[in-house]
Amino acid sequence: MENSPKKIRLATIWLDGCSGCHMSILDMDEKLIEIAEYVDVVYSPYVDEKEFPPNVDLTIVEGALSSDHDIAMIKKIRENSKLILALGDCAITGNISAMKNLFGSDAVLQKGYFDLADINESKKYPSQIVPKLLDKVLPLHEVVKVDYFLPGCPVPADAIYEMLKALIEGREINIHKLTRFGK
Ligand code: SF4
Repeated sequence: MENSPKKIRLATIWLDGCSGCHMSILDMDEKLIEIAEYVDVVYSPYVDEKEFPPNVDLTIVEGALSSDHDIAMIKKIRENSKLILALGDCAITGNISAMKNLFGSDAVLQKGYFDLADINESKKYPSQIVPKLLDKVLPLHEVVKVDYFLPGCPVPADAIYEMLKALIEGREINIHKLTRFGK
């Protein structure tokens, strides 16, 4: 990314993640104020924007792809983002989200909506409003091109800060000194 006084248009989203990696973004604490000088947050769980906008410079994606909604969303993100950063092990490998792959969607729905439910009078899985689950949970790069990968579970706040600073300043960074899978 060019070193320019113009703020970059930043989006963040969590798909099938636990929100822990987004909590790590907030854990940058006072460094958020420094980052805010260089970015406009145009879409994120942190801001009230319903539609993913065009012409985004960088989108940070937490979580794997588990539903038809996730697939549609990541394709829309790719079409409208110059760069995509896969944030955390779920986005990069599937991680916790992909544990479902050992058992299949029906077993997960059975557990969630019947075995562990206090009430389910309909005796059916929800089929409206709730997105349809994929047979297999996928990491982002199996569906779209991903430009940067930042592992961790969750990704340490310092690693996110250093990565963002490097992208803003247009320089290379060795992330292996900052984080690792499962950290
Ligand atoms: S990588 Fe870990 S902290 Fe991040 S969304 Fe996945 S489970 Fe949560």
